Amino acid sequence: MKIGILSRNSELYSTHRLVEACQGRGHDAEVIDHLKCTIVMEQNKPSIMYKGRNLEDFDAIIPRIGASVTFYGSAVVRQFEMMKVFTAVESQALIRSRDKLRSLQILSRAGLGLPKTVFTNYSRETDDILNAVGGAPVIIKLLEGTQGLGVVLAENRKAAASVIEAFHGLKARVIVQEFIKEAGGADIRAFVVDGEVVGAMKRQAKEGEFRSNLHRGGTSQVIKLSRKEKTAAVTAAKKMGLGVAGVDMLQSSRGPLILEVNSSPGLEGIENATGLDIAGKIIEYLERNSQKKRKIQKDK
Ligand code: ADP
Ligand code: GLU
Repeated sequence: MKIGILSRNSELYSTHRLVEACQGRGHDAEVIDHLKCTIVMEQNKPSIMYKGRNLEDFDAIIPRIGASVTFYGSAVVRQFEMMKVFTAVESQALIRSRDKLRSLQILSRAGLGLPKTVFTNYSRETDDILNAVGGAPVIIKLLEGTQGLGVVLAENRKAAASVIEAFHGLKARVIVQEFIKEAGGADIRAFVVDGEVVGAMKRQAKEGEFRSNLHRGGTSQVIKLSRKEKTAAVTAAKKMGLGVAGVDMLQSSRGPLILEVNSSPGLEGIENATGLDIAGKIIEYLERNSQKKRKIQKDK
């Protein structure tokens, strides 16, 4: 197979590992910088220009699109879809996953557990907001934040009200969420490929910190998921339409609560924690599906 890895930097651990896993299985791999792709449209003939040539004959792509370039990156993925190239993550699912609010609505509709969450149009009624999530302490999150930046724990009502007012005064959109104390500063990342959990880790925040992100100094270790946690992760990925997903959950007294579903989950943390070849699992997924596709085309 000829596999394109859409990534801005071939030095990144995840990109490098995907290339390695492709080559190890006898495939051709090319790292394509999606921001350097030119989308060409004409009647019935979609194509992509890249560094002075047309991108042709790709069997599959693996999008690794950063949150800040979702708009252009997803257009490039959509163009590959129009060229009948199999993609590990579809453009629609990518866009959906980048909208935190929409994602929570989809997960809630699917009956999955999530921390009780409130969102308003810059409301000044902080009392109502806090009552809706059961009072302080609460977690306040910038809608646009990643890697734990823009996530605040407000311990009491007064602090919570002033943080919400400050953000809303700056016209920054925030979600207000019940604080899950019993998670104890830990969360779970389940790595889902093609409807199956292929690896899971528990991330623990450093002493005195509630955010377990590795970027915030958290540490990770392999964990065996309960049946309930596995089902929640697989269902979340499915409802989001993601063939590859990193599902973040909190362990609570009422079962797993989903925090978010990541469409470009990093490989370094999960491979180091589990010792598993997660990149290889992604390539196997592509092998199964582009073969399926070819078979369907042949049968037609
Ligand atoms: P980001 O997308 O920026 O990583 P998250 O929503 O994942 O933001 O939050 C970062 C971390 O903060 C989580 O990994 C978790 O450890 C902690 N956290 C987030 N929401 C809650 C919550 N409602 N209750 C308890 N801890 C939380
Ligand atoms: N580097 C990110 C992190 O460790 C990985 C992206 C992700 O998997 O969410 O938080």
